[in-house]
Amino acid sequence: MRPRVLLACVTGLAVLFLSGCGASSSEPTAAPASPPPSAALPPEAAPAPSPTPSPTPTLRALPAKLPAGLVRTTGVDQVALTFDDGPDPAWTPKVLDRLKAAKVKATFCVVGTQVRKYPELVRRIAREGHQLCNHSWNHDLDLARRPVAEIRADLTRTNREIRRAVADAEVPYYRQPGGRWTAEVVKVAKQLDMRSLHWTVDPKDWARPTAATIRKRVHRAAKPGAVILLHDGGGNRAATLAACPKLIAALKRDHGVTRLPLNPS
Ligand SMILES: [Zn+2]
Repeated sequence: MRPRVLLACVTGLAVLFLSGCGASSSEPTAAPASPPPSAALPPEAAPAPSPTPSPTPTLRALPAKLPAGLVRTTGVDQVALTFDDGPDPAWTPKVLDRLKAAKVKATFCVVGTQVRKYPELVRRIAREGHQLCNHSWNHDLDLARRPVAEIRADLTRTNREIRRAVADAEVPYYRQPGGRWTAEVVKVAKQLDMRSLHWTVDPKDWARPTAATIRKRVHRAAKPGAVILLHDGGGNRAATLAACPKLIAALKRDHGVTRLPLNPS
């Protein structure tokens, strides 16, 4: 009996350990990172009946499926690279170097607080011909669930910061952190002349797999017109950077790489 009891204990501990690790690795705390699309639509918690009003404002529920109006394709056979959560002084310059070496253009979904800290990186992104995308002021995963006025203030503030860095910057896209879209955020973005940019390929580089895994995942999933989600900020992006040369070469060979259009149809 004793070995069996011991085995049960060890198994129980292993389950506890594994689930604990899973929870912490899939939900980075300090660094902004996009959770996978599947995590974008978590089940809503059942409302607990409470006689006292909640001190925090109620967030609107996420829709069961992604709302209409999201850009998820380049509209042509060529695929597009998108880099989220920067600009970051450690990684963005290196990503830009890789893109320059490969002679391809990408789209950078920038976070307002990072833009404020590193405006010169935004200027370099624009100067080198890449597209800019608003990725909210502070990577608020719940932004799309907040009151419309708050959404509008956040997106407007972020665009203002981008244009403080680059006076005449075009910001034709908005990307909701975590892909947690609502119809309301899509509508506000449209009112501010931004199309809502989702993705078709997510190699989950934010969870820091190896460079080879990132390449393999992109290679498997990339179809003509794919919009590929990568990160140049929000944490250590060494693997993403290491994946870039071969990954970009393969995409160029198989599909061609295009910048997302300035005026998407
Ligand atoms: Zn993000």
